[in-house]
Amino acid sequence: MVHPINGMLPVPCTAEHPIEQMGAHGQLRAGALSSTLWDRPKRGPVHLNVVFLDGHPTVQSLVKRHVRDWEDAANVKFNFLSRDRFVDAHLRITMPTTRIFQSYLGTGSVLIDRRLPSMTLGFTDDVLANPNEVKRLILHEFGHALGLIHEHQNPRGGLIFKVPEVYDYFWQNHRWDQRTVREQVIQPTRVELLKNATQFDPKSIMLYAFPASILAGGPVSTTQLNHELSEGDRRYIASIYPKGSVQPPPSIPAEPTGYLPLNLGEPYTGTLPIRGAEIPFGFQIASPGRYLMETFTPAGSREEYWVLTLRDARQQVLADDHHGSSPNGLNALIERELTPGHYRLHLRHRLRSGLGAYGILVRKAG
Ligand SMILES: [Zn+2]
Repeated sequence: MVHPINGMLPVPCTAEHPIEQMGAHGQLRAGALSSTLWDRPKRGPVHLNVVFLDGHPTVQSLVKRHVRDWEDAANVKFNFLSRDRFVDAHLRITMPTTRIFQSYLGTGSVLIDRRLPSMTLGFTDDVLANPNEVKRLILHEFGHALGLIHEHQNPRGGLIFKVPEVYDYFWQNHRWDQRTVREQVIQPTRVELLKNATQFDPKSIMLYAFPASILAGGPVSTTQLNHELSEGDRRYIASIYPKGSVQPPPSIPAEPTGYLPLNLGEPYTGTLPIRGAEIPFGFQIASPGRYLMETFTPAGSREEYWVLTLRDARQQVLADDHHGSSPNGLNALIERELTPGHYRLHLRHRLRSGLGAYGILVRKAG
């Protein structure tokens, strides 16, 4: 049988991976993938910065409270930053009232554009009315953010599905297409991609609820949603992020640098994600000369008015633009002699409440 939440179906979840991480056959490499694990410092816990891009403060405090269970189990510490620090955040949470729950796996959260959310907690009032379910969803999504796969995709003695019935079940209940069902439910993760893979754990927080009618075999005839970290979850996460460990860290993508890289002569376009936010860009000058730094209006968008501040590598302000290059003279333009070195360009909307699409370009003058 289905295990309902207050008479509703369980809320499903998708674990995502940036497109660059797709395997050779287009398979999503879902898993407690070694490749998505966060770097472990030589001493002390893995510090992960978290920003709420939106959401009600009450729900935000529930997140802060429940993630302590992962901190207790593993050598991980979540630092909650104010939302204007989103560029420095490993995990960026959005909370639209959509009943959609998803997260990138581990370091996939920083491989995507850092102005985009890495985790969606789509709480609706009916879900929020069930504290156990709220806790389960928070722990489950943060499990993905630590690099954990769905437990039903564990290749070690895992579940065997009646494939047509599974497609039918997820279409009927969640309108998931077959590809999503394959990626999130049926396809076992390749064992060689997993770190310290353990036996299937029917008590895992990373498991979905499956009625017996869609299971063909395996260690259990049916599964249910679990609302706490299991002993297996705790042991497993502690094996990945051990407390007090001095093991050499695995090679993983570089830590966030706190700014978005710009290449000379290559226009970059994006959208301001938060009202009043300032986006820090970084670029490097190799040969001395006169350079132009400007904002522009991307093709097809409404004109917005952007302000640039140029800083050197020590964050000293070199120029603060207020005259522009757009037809209305309100986009930013800085022209300046630069010596070789690293520079920062901070972009913000001219209005505190401004939002919209921008373009930014650094190029040699003349
Ligand atoms: Zn999930």
